[in-house]
Amino acid sequence: MLAIACDKCRRRFTATDEELRVFLQQAEGKKFALVLCPHCGKGSKIAADRIHQALRFSTPPAGSEEPTNPAT
Ligand SMILES: [Zn+2]
Repeated sequence: MLAIACDKCRRRFTATDEELRVFLQQAEGKKFALVLCPHCGKGSKIAADRIHQALRFSTPPAGSEEPTNPAT
């Protein structure tokens, strides 16, 4: 999750990890991702590095606790 201040309306909002991943995919190859503000609907430029960092901190470590092949 990442706290973002909108460039356009100056209001704050947070993007969830899932949303951040989508923004990164859309910004593939670029230095900035366009993050849509829920208040005004405009896009704010957020540094891809910042998003990468936010995801690194919030993503749980890859473990093998999930059942991989549940019996039917
Ligand atoms: Zn806004």
